[in-house]
Amino acid sequence: MRRPLIAGNWKMNNSVEESINLVRDLRDRELSEKVDVLICPPFTSLYAIINEIKNSSIKVGAQNMYYEDKGAFTGEVSPAMLKSIGVEYVIIGHSERRQYFNETDQLINKKLKAALTHGLIPILCVGETLEQREEGMEKETVKAQIVKAFKNIEKAEKVVIAYEPVWAIGTGKVATSEQAEEMSEFIRSIIATIYNSEVADNIIIQYGGSVKSLNISEIMSQPNIDGVLVGGASLNAEEFAKIVNFGEDKKGC
Ligand code: PEP
Repeated sequence: MRRPLIAGNWKMNNSVEESINLVRDLRDRELSEKVDVLICPPFTSLYAIINEIKNSSIKVGAQNMYYEDKGAFTGEVSPAMLKSIGVEYVIIGHSERRQYFNETDQLINKKLKAALTHGLIPILCVGETLEQREEGMEKETVKAQIVKAFKNIEKAEKVVIAYEPVWAIGTGKVATSEQAEEMSEFIRSIIATIYNSEVADNIIIQYGGSVKSLNISEIMSQPNIDGVLVGGASLNAEEFAKIVNFGEDKKGC
């Protein structure tokens, strides 16, 4: 049984004070118990946020990490450092990191391994660009990203995969639920080929790309989509709570 995972990626937004205000606003709302709720604030806010949500069911993730444990890697943050403050999840290979920071599939593979070694749950982001989709290369692109990311990875069932078509991120253009479902089903079939059908049946697959309270129910109605990774709409507690509570009639949102 796959438990839905609704995650918010705050990206490079919010001071510590703004982060605390946002998480308090979210924490004090009635949130569905049928899903796991995750927020991924910037590094500078992680410690303060973890203290704020101690008695709540909200989980906390980082947006990135390096794969080494420690050492002369100026500016980087290790999986052990994240783990030591209570971080549970980490986003790996977001398209913005692939695009602006030249993250390769090889680097992403190392980060995936390191996250699992340290007991962090990685959210591996994959997805094609608009050009790749227009050329009919979307499945080939996503398959290559997955095969390379999972090279020599054990405990694959612990990985969350976020299918995020690059053309749908922050653009307001949402993939149709058919497109998102088709790719999620395809991703599950790749995992079944690399591992086996049990791993494929258990792995959580999210969709990401301009998710809002208006389109969440349609997206979550698809059989192979187990959750969403939300960027812009996760910066507003009321809107994010509505996304979390899709399909329910909750007060306070
Ligand atoms: C994201 O950052 O992963 C994302 C999907 O962003 P947005 O929801 O703003 O498109």
